[in-house]
Amino acid sequence: MKYCKNCGKELQEKNNFCTLCGTPVSENATTIKPNNVVLETVEDKKKGNVFGIIALILHFGTPFLTSLLSPIMNTIEKSNYSAISGIVASLIGVGYLSSWVIMIVGRVKYPKNVLCKVTMWIFIITAIMEVVGLILIMAFCYITCTNMDFSGCY
Ligand SMILES: [Zn+2]
Repeated sequence: MKYCKNCGKELQEKNNFCTLCGTPVSENATTIKPNNVVLETVEDKKKGNVFGIIALILHFGTPFLTSLLSPIMNTIEKSNYSAISGIVASLIGVGYLSSWVIMIVGRVKYPKNVLCKVTMWIFIITAIMEVVGLILIMAFCYITCTNMDFSGCY
């Protein structure tokens, strides 16, 4: 049995090209089975891209869409406001969490996909920036609070 050097797929004697990656068999055949050499197929690339795109849309689209709702939110009666803003907040939460889940599933199922890789780094970097931002705000509040002079209040 011969294997494709490029992607590790078993090669048929009758074919001149690898059926998975299309590399010519003559220059690409090996009798040793390559370990974990699997090239991304066109089909996998498409599916992986779908995961990446959906993850990105959910991650950045949900807060954007809900911000579009704010003019409508302002017209809502005060009695209904807390319930509706609760729904909106949970929508943002669900969108954010599911974007991470979809990204991770995409990364695991299609490890060769570039878009899933890029999406992962975008998610990680934005998460780090959000945490750093939160710490900076808390530090700023802490400093201003401790420096405040309350002696005049008593
Ligand atoms: Zn191949």
